[in-house]
Amino acid sequence: MAAANVIFLGVPGAGKGTQAQILRERYGYAQLSTGDLLREHRAARSPLGVAAEGCMARGDLVADDLMIEMVRAALPGDGRVGIIFDGFPRTIPQALALDKMLRVARRVAPRAVYFKIDLDDAQARLLARRREDDRPETIRHRFDVFVRERDHLKDYYGGPGRNRFVEIDAAQPVDRVTRQLVAALRLESSTITA
Ligand code: AMP
Repeated sequence: MAAANVIFLGVPGAGKGTQAQILRERYGYAQLSTGDLLREHRAARSPLGVAAEGCMARGDLVADDLMIEMVRAALPGDGRVGIIFDGFPRTIPQALALDKMLRVARRVAPRAVYFKIDLDDAQARLLARRREDDRPETIRHRFDVFVRERDHLKDYYGGPGRNRFVEIDAAQPVDRVTRQLVAALRLESSTITA
């Protein structure tokens, strides 16, 4: 059987990357972070990196078709490995494309976990980590961009008749968030690479 796939939804600073890393180390998930991949492309001056860097610097979303192709190319070949999608999808076209590409690859339809956190708390975390695109003026814009798409994505995964959405309290300390995640994904009672 193919493994579970999980989408982490949440504003920048909600702790998605931290939790993805923990689940990767503890449960063998593969982590696919579009922000990290884009930063690698940018550092390598690849055509994608060059095309994306303006959007990234402003905190705008990179074009859907570029993002979808980047994710398609980054999917692990081994369908038995569960994937955590961190920072993708961010739009409905990306969500539709992800469902389709996982279906084609005969992988399990992903479930979405929403990392709920106050914007002020998330901003404080971002300012503490001091990454290049974490400047106060860019942060607020990235939040606005996220909030604009958030409800569409919530509806997409959790709307009537769908059962692919769970919310966790991401304002808590790291280990508590992990505990909630483990419970939400029922990781202790099942293997993710069956
Ligand atoms: P992140 O580290 O996830 O906050 O991503 C950093 C930047 O990369 C974002 O502000 C966007 O410019 C871009 N980016 C990352 N993921 C996506 C995505 N799924 N769709 C569009 N742009 C993205």
